[in-house]
Amino acid sequence: MPSLTSTTSPSAPKPPLPKAELHLHIEGTLEPGLVFALAERNGISLPYATEDALRRAYSFTDLQSFLDLYYALMDVLRTEDDFADLANAYLARAREQGVRHAEIFFDPQAHTARGVPMGTVIRGLARALDGAQETYGISTRLIMCFLRDESAASALETFEAARPYLDRITAVGLDSAEVGHPPSKFAEVYALAREAGLKCVAHAGEEGPAAYVWEALDVLGVDRIDHGVRCMDDERLVARLVADQVPLTVCPLSNVRLRVIDDLADHPLPAMLDAGLLITVNSDDPAYFGGYADDNFTAVREALGLDEEALRRLARNSFRAAFLDEETRATYVKEVDAY
Ligand SMILES: [Zn+2]
Repeated sequence: MPSLTSTTSPSAPKPPLPKAELHLHIEGTLEPGLVFALAERNGISLPYATEDALRRAYSFTDLQSFLDLYYALMDVLRTEDDFADLANAYLARAREQGVRHAEIFFDPQAHTARGVPMGTVIRGLARALDGAQETYGISTRLIMCFLRDESAASALETFEAARPYLDRITAVGLDSAEVGHPPSKFAEVYALAREAGLKCVAHAGEEGPAAYVWEALDVLGVDRIDHGVRCMDDERLVARLVADQVPLTVCPLSNVRLRVIDDLADHPLPAMLDAGLLITVNSDDPAYFGGYADDNFTAVREALGLDEEALRRLARNSFRAAFLDEETRATYVKEVDAY
C-alpha cells in the first residue's frame, strides 16, 4: 500500500510579507551578471575576467572601497535601454521579495558627469517604472538624489537640467559621503524643489551626527529621513521625530557592511521601535550589501529576535511612510493585516 504521505504535496512556502521599499538606490542594484551583459552590449572591457572575479570584488571592506567600485561599475550604464534593463532587473527581484510599492533613488550627477544626458537616465528608468504595475504588480515613485560631496552649485545645475522631467519625479533626496557635507549646504536647491511641488527626503544621521538630522528637518524641510540611526544619540531629537511621526528609512544590512553598526545583533532597531519612532526597513544598495528588502526583514528577525507582529508593524510603517494616496495606502495596509 503506498504511503499516504508520499502523495501529499508539501504546502507551498508562504509568500513574503507585503512591504514598501523606500530606500533603494537603483545604481546599487547592479548585479555582476548585468554588469557583464551591459559591458558586452556597449563594447566596454572590464578589469575582471569573470563574473565570479567581479563578485569577489563586491566583498569590499570599507566605505571608500565600496564607493570606488560603485562609481566604476556605473560606467556600463550608457543608454536608455541600459537604465530600463537595470530597473526591470530590480523590479523582478523586488516582486520576489514581497515589495508592493518601491520609491527608487537615482543619482543623476553620477551619470551626467560621464556625459550621459539627464533625459537618457530619466526616460530609461521611467520606461521600466511605467510598466511596473502591470508587469510586476508594483507601484513606483522616482526620487532624484543630489550627491552631497559635490557642490551646492552642481546640485542647482542638476535640478535645472531635470526641470523638463519633473512630472516623472516625486521627490528629491541627498546621498553619498555624509560627514563634512551637512544638509544646510543644499538649502537653496531644496527650497526650489519644494516650490516645484516635490516631496523632500535626505540621508542624515548614518555616519554623520544627530545635528545633521535636525538640519534636514529644520533647514531642508524633509518629509522623511533616510537612515537616521544616529538620532538615538539625542533624546530631544527622538522626541521631535516621535511627536511629528517623521519616518526613518533604516537599512540594517547596509549599516553592518559599512560598519555603521559592528554587529546586526547590536542594531538599535528594537530600541527605535520601542521609542515610538516610525521605522521602516530597507535595502539601500542590495547588490553590494548582501540582501534585498525581504532579506533585510529576515536578517533583523533572526539577529534581533523580532516577532511576527513587530515585522508586520515594520511593513505597515513602510506603507504609512510612503508617498501614496490614502486609498492606495489603505489597500496595502489591509494586505499586511491579512498576512
Ligand atoms: Zn542610501
